[in-house]
Amino acid sequence: MSDAAAKEQEVRPKALPPRPRPGVSRDTEFFWKGCMKHELRIQQCEGCERLTHPPVVRCPECGSYEFGYLVASGAGTLYSFVEPVHPPMPFMQYPYIVGLVELAEGTRLITNLVDIDLEEVRIGMPLALTFVQTDPELILPMFRPA
Ligand code: ZN
Repeated sequence: MSDAAAKEQEVRPKALPPRPRPGVSRDTEFFWKGCMKHELRIQQCEGCERLTHPPVVRCPECGSYEFGYLVASGAGTLYSFVEPVHPPMPFMQYPYIVGLVELAEGTRLITNLVDIDLEEVRIGMPLALTFVQTDPELILPMFRPA
């Protein structure tokens, strides 16, 4: 190995194993397909228009089994957050932040906050949707400061 190659190996962070992939069902497929198209799709009841996330089989409001979806605008605010530290997960780059984001449309989503340091995170801060490709077959919706 050349000196340059050895130096490169020292500097570059070791590649992480891919994140576990979601279990995709008939009821959640629309959401994951939306992610691949950079759309944040929120399940919407066709009976009463209630938004629900994560997707459900039956509307908790009116009991309908008929659903469509709404494409979220991507605007939201931070409702709560946590910095997970234990147990360590080999597929995550530490530190990272898990946020509970209240979408402008009125429902909430658990996601990751990106492009921000923990010290800058504030409850109620405005956030904007972004999509992050976490492996060749998975794109996840995440949020950054607006
Ligand atoms: Zn309903």
